[in-house]
Amino acid sequence: LTSPRSETASACIFCVAAESPDHRQTLTLQRNERVLVMLNRYPYTNGHVMIAPVAHEARLFDSSPASLSDIMRVTAETQRILSDVYQPDGFNIGMNFGSAAGAGVADHYHVHVVPRWSGDSNFMSVTSRTRIVPEELDVTYDKLLPYFQQKRALDSR
Ligand SMILES: [Zn+2]
Repeated sequence: LTSPRSETASACIFCVAAESPDHRQTLTLQRNERVLVMLNRYPYTNGHVMIAPVAHEARLFDSSPASLSDIMRVTAETQRILSDVYQPDGFNIGMNFGSAAGAGVADHYHVHVVPRWSGDSNFMSVTSRTRIVPEELDVTYDKLLPYFQQKRALDSR
C-alpha cells in the first residue's frame, strides 16, 4: 500500500524536508503550504539557500500558478534577507533541470540562491563543484532563521 509519492519522498531531500517535523535537522528555514526554504548542505558560498515547491514536481510547468507565484515571491524575499545578513557583492540565482543540465536532484526542481563576493573565485560557477570556505551550517542556520521567522509573520498579515 505504498504510494508512489512516499517512494519518491524517501529518496528526495526536498520531500524529506517537506515532511519532517525537525526543521533544524533538514536545514529548513521556512515551510508553508506550497513552498519550502532550506540551506544547501553542500553550499557553494556562505548563505547558499534553496527554494522548492512542497510538491514533488520536476518542471516549472508541473507547478500550479499559486506555487509558481510563491516560489518567485519567496525567492525575492530570500534575496532581500541574504542581502541584509551577508551584504554580498552579487548573486547567482538559478535553476537546473535534469542531470544533463547539472541538477543534483533531477526530479524535484529548486531555485538556488547563492550570494557572491568580488574575487570569491575566478572559476566558480553555480554548476561547478567548487566550494568557498563556508561557515558552519549551524551558524548559518541560526543566523538566518530569525529573519525567516519574521518574514513568516509578515506573510500572514
Ligand atoms: Zn521530492
